[in-house]
Amino acid sequence: MAINMDEIIIENLQVYAHHGVYPKENEIGQNFYVSARMETDTRRAGVMDDLSLSTNYGDVCRFLHSFLREHTYKLLETVAERASEELLLAFPNIRRVTLEVRKPEAPIPFPFQSVSVRITRGWRRTYIACGSNMGDRENYLNTAVACFKRDRKCKVVRVSDWMESTAYGGVRQADFLNGVIALDTLYTPKELLEKIHEIEKSQNRQRLVHWGPRTLDLDILLYEDCVMDMEELTIPHKDMRNRDFVLKPLSQIAPYERHPVFGKSILELYEELLQNGEEHIIE
Ligand code: ADP
Ligand code: MG
Repeated sequence: MAINMDEIIIENLQVYAHHGVYPKENEIGQNFYVSARMETDTRRAGVMDDLSLSTNYGDVCRFLHSFLREHTYKLLETVAERASEELLLAFPNIRRVTLEVRKPEAPIPFPFQSVSVRITRGWRRTYIACGSNMGDRENYLNTAVACFKRDRKCKVVRVSDWMESTAYGGVRQADFLNGVIALDTLYTPKELLEKIHEIEKSQNRQRLVHWGPRTLDLDILLYEDCVMDMEELTIPHKDMRNRDFVLKPLSQIAPYERHPVFGKSILELYEELLQNGEEHIIE
């Protein structure tokens, strides 16, 4: 059962700002109204009556007010996108935000009440498998973790042990070191794929033989409950069910996470594989 999160809500915060496509809007400005619905956990703050455990909506209002005044964008879409990202980065207790930016004085030659853009953005839980079988394997895996830690759009939540395994997929090659990283990220799945390609490239990853030796391989295993099957990206990872060097470290850090297609927990998938699958992990 998914338990709903608590919400903190701000409605129609008025900000005089200068966003717009027309130069006149940028010069003179007009009123904008911002509403934010923030998913968070207010339970501890509520029980303890302690503001430091929650998100101060006064601070959020001040933050949004300055953000809208200090930047000037052409599009409401950009105002909403940039403001929600900065909000999520500035207030770590906020898991997700639905932000609406209204512009009731927009220069449209018809009678209308208001135009607005509303978007929902938030931290998404994802699990990344990492593997290396060339050079200083441990250093490559640790570097991958460090790269995610350096990126402000990622929060490293947990890292499994690194485990040694024999090569998978029929190519004769050196043993691997494998593990899994749990991340919260603001990237979309496609952006995350670009990010991991960038990290792989920075570690001299070359694609010579399919399933061949590599300094660093990063694969997206799960991304929230997302199910997608496109040419360049399949989530959940197509073959995770058959790989003990993925399921063992994943079950170490997320045993009760559920596979959105098979409807089974990671621990169940790992136990099934132990019963009737190939073993690659070297004990
Ligand atoms: P492999 O991981 O199968 O050994 P590569 O790392 O070379 O091979 O990945 C080949 C391509 O697989 C990537 O360029 C990417 O477009 C695609 N791909 C599809 N699904 C995923 C996923 N879940 N995570 C990472 N890459 C994926
Ligand atoms: Mg890969």
